[in-house]
Amino acid sequence: MSFDRALRCRECGREYPLDPIFSCEFCFGPLEVAYDYDGIREAATRDSIERGPSTLWRYADFLPCDPQHKVDIGTGYTPLIKADRLAKAVGLDTLWLKNDTVNPSWSFKDRVVSVAIARARQFGFDAMACASTGNLANSVAAHSAAAGMECFVFIPDDLEQGKVVGSAIYHPTLVMVEGSYDDVNRLCTELSMSYPWAFVNINVRPYYAEGSRTLAFEVAEQLGWRTPDHVVAPMASGSLFTKIWKGFQEFHKVGLIDEPHTRMSGAQATGCSPIATAYEAETLNFVPQKPNTIARSLAIGNPADGYYALKQMQETGGGAAMVTDDEIVQGIKLLAETEGIFAETAGGVTVACLKQMVDAGFIRRDEETVAFITGAGLKTLEAVIDEVDEPVRVTANADRFVEALDARRSLAGATAGGA
Ligand SMILES: *Cc1c(COP(=O)(O)O)cnc(C)c1O
Ligand SMILES: [Zn+2]
Repeated sequence: MSFDRALRCRECGREYPLDPIFSCEFCFGPLEVAYDYDGIREAATRDSIERGPSTLWRYADFLPCDPQHKVDIGTGYTPLIKADRLAKAVGLDTLWLKNDTVNPSWSFKDRVVSVAIARARQFGFDAMACASTGNLANSVAAHSAAAGMECFVFIPDDLEQGKVVGSAIYHPTLVMVEGSYDDVNRLCTELSMSYPWAFVNINVRPYYAEGSRTLAFEVAEQLGWRTPDHVVAPMASGSLFTKIWKGFQEFHKVGLIDEPHTRMSGAQATGCSPIATAYEAETLNFVPQKPNTIARSLAIGNPADGYYALKQMQETGGGAAMVTDDEIVQGIKLLAETEGIFAETAGGVTVACLKQMVDAGFIRRDEETVAFITGAGLKTLEAVIDEVDEPVRVTANADRFVEALDARRSLAGATAGGA
């Protein structure tokens, strides 16, 4: 039923059994799942996929877990929206938005966690855990609750309220660590050696990471079994970014689509931009940073897949951009005001970087582009709370409303005239 065959080192190619391990004993390279693609080619056709459930489980043949262990709270198969108003605003002919704000815990992390928890149950783990910048904690806590499993989530101590309560509500053991994500990750890596828990992004990371490929599978299917000219996606560890490209290539490998020629571009916040900075310096070796940005979900200063993300830009003719906190807020507002989608800060990063790359002529007007909106805005209200208009406040009286509306309109007129 599943076509995962082994774990393979990305550096030296050595193979390992499908165990809860993540790095090569010989060269310390990261392990990645290897598949029996001939088997997948036999099992998965366009028809069989189209007849599948309206969740990421329609791609079960491509996932490294036995679907009988799945914890299905409705993740995936999110809308791909033709964004004509945003396209016009940024200067593109054709723009699509992959709207992953509508997942069960309101971010794309539900994809990676769906796969990780299924695999963890298959391994026989009783408890889930993770090191998180916020969204992962929300998703691990939600899925663990639905599975009735014990849950330990670790987050930095400077997260937005929406991310903190967004984990706590599912009643995990929520651990707030004094420090940055990179400190949290270091602590969890140490703990994973002594606690028998499935740390989704540590000891089961090779399986977890594969969940992001479902974004590529969905986009290709939703475009009518083809790939776009250009992709813009946010980068934290760089995993999501690299797995989108892997997903396109795999769909081609099993004969579902033509060879992809998509240029892959990544988006970061200036306050945490190790990958985009290395891209600008034309090197594949990034320098770790100490994050300082409102885009906390992307605040990984030492990105595990940074090198592979940079290699992929080179290989596909894509690139990277970075934007300031103010540009991130403007990106969130532009997306909301043109397309009716309220994204968190990571979405603001993506939209603002998209705009920057079109302005610079790096993305040409006629390139059909897909931008990935990976998390919902109600989780990061702090970022925009002082940037939206005050409500028009009235007593429940029609005359007071007319006065108030006139006042608001003349104020708006004065602002527009003065600008
Ligand atoms: C985690 C996250 C990402 C990207 O994470 P990677 O570590 O690069 O895979 C993007 N957007 C949001 C909202 C996230 O939470
Ligand atoms: Zn190796």
